Amino acid sequence: MPTPSQTEVPCNTCIECCRSKQALLLHPDQGDDVSSYQVTAAAHPDTGALVYLLATKENGECIYLGPSGCTIYLRRPLLCRTFDCRKHYLILPRQDRDNLVRLGLSSRAVFNAGRARQKSLSPEERQECLEKREEFFAD
Ligand code: SF4
Repeated sequence: MPTPSQTEVPCNTCIECCRSKQALLLHPDQGDDVSSYQVTAAAHPDTGALVYLLATKENGECIYLGPSGCTIYLRRPLLCRTFDCRKHYLILPRQDRDNLVRLGLSSRAVFNAGRARQKSLSPEERQECLEKREEFFAD
């Protein structure tokens, strides 16, 4: 499977992804070296499969979030390099967003950040998201 390219989200000073208690899932099948990170192993709440998440501090922040941002920026895992809160927001219908928040897999603050930034997507990217949404949820 090709590795998705790095996103160019206009984060500015936003660090909600790193501090919002959302599941920071590693993808060993796409190159993340689990042994090089501090991780927590967990059962996926939907499938029961064993998954690895970046460890978090007691306050829910990523263990690697420092006062000036990511302390492992150059070797941050795939999710951190490719996550796009705007697309995450646009592709998922409200009910699915609510479910992900309830399961602790995503956070309301991250969805809000995506909603606030969605206008920075090009018309083509926006259309692509809406098509994916239809494709995923056609049933
Ligand atoms: S590894 Fe870095 S970019 Fe990824 S969630 Fe942690 S602090 Fe944020």
